[in-house]
Amino acid sequence: MRIVQKFGGTSMSGVARIKETARIVRDEYHRGHQIAVVVSAMSGETNRLLTLAQDISDCPCEREVDALLATGEQASATLLAMELDHLGIDAFSLNGAQLGMRTSGAFGRAKIDHVDANHLIAAMDAGRIAVITGFQGVDIDGNITTLGRGGSDTSAVAIAIAVRADVCDIYTDVDGIYTTDPRIVPNAHKIKQISYEEMLEFASLGAKVLQTRSVGLAMKYGMPIHLRSSFNNITGSMVCREDTSMEKASVTGVAYNRNEAKVTLQGIPDQPGIAAGIFNPIAKADINVDVIVQNISAHGMTDITFTVEREDYRKTMEIMHQHCADLKASHVAGSDDVAKVSIIGVGMKSHAGVAQTMFQILADAGVNIEMITTSEIKVTVVLGEADVDRAVRLLHTAFDLDEGDNA
Ligand code: ADP
Ligand code: ASP
Ligand code: MG
Repeated sequence: MRIVQKFGGTSMSGVARIKETARIVRDEYHRGHQIAVVVSAMSGETNRLLTLAQDISDCPCEREVDALLATGEQASATLLAMELDHLGIDAFSLNGAQLGMRTSGAFGRAKIDHVDANHLIAAMDAGRIAVITGFQGVDIDGNITTLGRGGSDTSAVAIAIAVRADVCDIYTDVDGIYTTDPRIVPNAHKIKQISYEEMLEFASLGAKVLQTRSVGLAMKYGMPIHLRSSFNNITGSMVCREDTSMEKASVTGVAYNRNEAKVTLQGIPDQPGIAAGIFNPIAKADINVDVIVQNISAHGMTDITFTVEREDYRKTMEIMHQHCADLKASHVAGSDDVAKVSIIGVGMKSHAGVAQTMFQILADAGVNIEMITTSEIKVTVVLGEADVDRAVRLLHTAFDLDEGDNA
């Protein structure tokens, strides 16, 4: 088999872990597989570097920040290559530019345009192991770029697709994808197999175990992802095409995201162009808007509430205050202590009343729902941040996801 293995920060955090990671690579290699490895920086390193940049300047130059952050992965890739060499394996490190990981020039959130895989495939055919820096690439002008936080997952999937690997093994500190974050619900259970569709929702709604873009890319090319632990040898979770033969439970998992803020414009005239008037300046400022709710108008006036990422809250409020008069809004209000809790499952397509059950459980617990949004396979509510842990636990239990319920 041809396998691309990705090791996250916890698998690279210090000499002892790097030695353990090298043993995992060696064992897989000795099973007769062709291997390429993608690594993250040592855990905490990207944050440490970011803090250094912020200590130098409130608004450091984006190009330099990317070049700085890329050093984290460069250090871990070289150290792992050295250790593999020490174990007698013909290994060598490659950074994004050396590999030919060509990206757009959007610093901090670059998109992958192309992976030059020919020499990598030749190395794999020759039994050599390339240890490649995740998270980084190079733009057409030769600038070093990074792909956004958690981006090594996306690097690994892109490289797996480029070398036509059989599977992309993503090693982390949990042994699979759980029905919710095991840090909040210790008796969450492991999902053996999850469809791309569900994982995409899961990741984008806050399960930070895989970068959302990596799942979108894997889905587009049908690349199976095996998410597993580098701390033990047990089978993890497969992210792959939906197994339609299986009877599906209504809810597969619960996700949450605390990184939310909401903004409300009150008393705006209900007329064409209002939504465009609000969201144009926000889009121009490169701010992503998530949930949007417009109230039914009364006497020709309406309210619009929407959510943005918490780090964009102040900027969004400033923009809204600037445009308040043009939009003829009577008032702008907001808060940055809201969060999102979602239930996800392809089984929802064939089960009625799932959303209603969710609302009833939250109502019985006295949790106030501020906004609701749904799709065919998810229901999301916006609520106060203080209620997140409780809501996640209650929903996890109510939808029979606790360990033991499904065993
Ligand atoms: P890495 O550094 O290996 O990329 P991450 O910290 O990015 O690791 O992702 C692994 C973490 O994701 C786990 O430690 C876990 O707490 C968290 N996580 C959040 N939601 C889930 C989930 N549904 N299943 C498994 N892990 C989850
Ligand atoms: N080192 C980068 C980060 O911390 C990329 C990654 O780990 O995937 O976000
Ligand atoms: Mg990660």
